[in-house]
Amino acid sequence: MECWSIGVLGWGPLLQYSTAPVPQIFSMQIIEQIAAMRDWSENERRQGRRIVFVPTMGFLHEGHLCLVRDARKRGDRVVVSIFVNPTQFSPSEDFAGYPRDFERDRGLLEKEQIDVLFHPPVAEMYPAGVETHVEVERLSLPLCGAARSGHFRGVATIVTKLFNIVLPHAAIFGEKDYQQLQVIRQLVRDLSMNVEIVGHPIVRESDGVAMSSRNSYLTPDERRAAVCLSQSLCKAERLFRRGEKSARAIIDRVASVLAEQPLAQVEYVELCDAETLTDIDQIRGTALLALAVRIGRARLIDNRLLKSPGA
Ligand code: AMP
Repeated sequence: MECWSIGVLGWGPLLQYSTAPVPQIFSMQIIEQIAAMRDWSENERRQGRRIVFVPTMGFLHEGHLCLVRDARKRGDRVVVSIFVNPTQFSPSEDFAGYPRDFERDRGLLEKEQIDVLFHPPVAEMYPAGVETHVEVERLSLPLCGAARSGHFRGVATIVTKLFNIVLPHAAIFGEKDYQQLQVIRQLVRDLSMNVEIVGHPIVRESDGVAMSSRNSYLTPDERRAAVCLSQSLCKAERLFRRGEKSARAIIDRVASVLAEQPLAQVEYVELCDAETLTDIDQIRGTALLALAVRIGRARLIDNRLLKSPGA
């Protein structure tokens, strides 16, 4: 600690003054109400602070925490939301059983020293009588949208609501949910929202499995089997690096690796343009190789961007 002293009257008492900044006592606020969240953000904005936002559904893992650390580097204040959004689950999906552990999440976020954890109850976000939805029409149709009808409408609606409440300058989303990221980029462009959208690379376990809250559904055998997703993408990427440009050949490579894993039930393997998500026959520029696979009760997704030289 940097200190200086003033001697008073030679041998007299020493007065000590510290020039070091007074250590700030850190405290993360938990906000549950829309009005309180908006008041906090408006106040921070008035003081010229940049708010960076990380929306999540909780049951946090290292992938989420990497987004949070990225947020810290990009702004003055970090807001994380935990909200398991019912409107992005179809009635046959896992909304009720989606993993939740608020106390653990809260501890993890406190350690990351975020500023606000926004944790609204469902009735606060969707009071009775809601009639309005946001739909990004074309980008919501392929890939996960084909099997999960209404999913991206739920995502686009909740993200719009969260942006209107948290009032962030920037928001960070993972490339693991690549289609979601594209849907949100389109939404922000189409509705002229003043929010910078940042994509964060996929965070993986040491064996290559993409981190996901839904990995908690896997039994030890299923967890070992889950490595087939990233392995199939790696093998397809190697084929691409050796010069293969045909979508059919690359998709077949992925499918053959997945077929070797008896616990894996493939929902889709697709290769599409990375911007428009439309199917392609040949890779030019940047393509998205994306897949969804069921293992046990978990539906797992993963993807890889295949970039042509110079793209
Ligand atoms: P979720 O809680 O699953 O809705 O995820 C919240 C955010 O974290 C989304 O933007 C996800 O794309 C992102 N995310 C989840 N898992 C990962 C991961 N393994 N790597 C990078 N981002 C991730």
